[in-house]
Amino acid sequence: MLIVPEREIANLITAADCFTAVERVFASMANKAAYNFPVIREAIGHADALYGFKSGFDRESLALGLKAGGFWPNNVSKGLTNHQSTIFLFDADTGKCRAAVGGNLITALRTAAASAVSIKYLARQEAKVLGMIGAGHQSAFQLRAALQQRQFEKVVAWNFHPEMLSRLEQVANDEGLPFEVLDLERLGAESDVIISITSSFAPLLKASQVRPGTHVACMGTDTKGKQEVEPELVAMATVFTDEIAQAVTIGECQHAVERGITNKEAIIEIGAVISGKHPGRSSADEITLFDGTGIALQDLAVASVAVELALVKGVAIEIDF
Ligand code: NAD
Repeated sequence: MLIVPEREIANLITAADCFTAVERVFASMANKAAYNFPVIREAIGHADALYGFKSGFDRESLALGLKAGGFWPNNVSKGLTNHQSTIFLFDADTGKCRAAVGGNLITALRTAAASAVSIKYLARQEAKVLGMIGAGHQSAFQLRAALQQRQFEKVVAWNFHPEMLSRLEQVANDEGLPFEVLDLERLGAESDVIISITSSFAPLLKASQVRPGTHVACMGTDTKGKQEVEPELVAMATVFTDEIAQAVTIGECQHAVERGITNKEAIIEIGAVISGKHPGRSSADEITLFDGTGIALQDLAVASVAVELALVKGVAIEIDF
């Protein structure tokens, strides 16, 4: 069995590798070759933690496995990121455990890759202003990946905790782009693409604040009860997702479906657009919304690449197991 420690991941895998792996596995889902198993996610009644498993199998790449871990909100005071996870890959022919891979950086990179894929396929080509809602750990990864997809000329941002926004200003500065903090009314009025990546449990962005033609990537809602945008925005947008079953249960769509103002038949998997089965955006005025719930197949696809690269670079630790 191979171990690829968390400390090696940053030197092994690039954001571009992650983008390619995530784009490919979304397409594999559309070909009905890859599927996720039901998610387990539980409040364990200790350390305010949410712990769970996400697992799946891709018959095209033979990536089989699971990500175990979750969200420990008090970790920052311990010098740790609050998302902690490990990815286990299994040999699809024998069931033997093939690798354990540090999952923390991979989670951030694969989540950023998902919204970047949605921007590639759904945002207007001429998108110039990128709006960020949220400034936590994931947000910088989101911003960096999104900036690769269009010729953005400005980054605008809002966060519930304004003191955290310097993290995004730094990324914008690194990319040579102007950065401005706005309220949500103005952020919606100026942005061509909006990414939300918060741990909010109440709607932040209102339907009336989003202008025609905007692409919105809702990336923070990955659990029952979380919510970043008004259900009315979901109802008025053309909605795409990584996986419909997750979108209606733990994703942003859960609220609009519960309210009966949208239904799962109206939601399109992004893999269908990647594989050419769905045309994606239909007009310059359409609001597109990507509900990025975070699926096991993203983790397995990126971890598989990390294992191959670790073998090539000689940094995979082999143990008898
Ligand atoms: P973080 O704790 O570092 O940051 C939390 C963010 O949410 C900050 O911007 C904070 O200001 C904001 N926030 C906190 N309380 C809020 C409130 N009451 N109202 C509005 N905003 C509030 O977390 P992170 O690692 O950046 O993750 C952000 C979110 O993304 C989490 O909900 C996490 O579970 C989710 N996530 C989703 C995926 C996916 O695949 N979809 C993957 C990883 C993380």
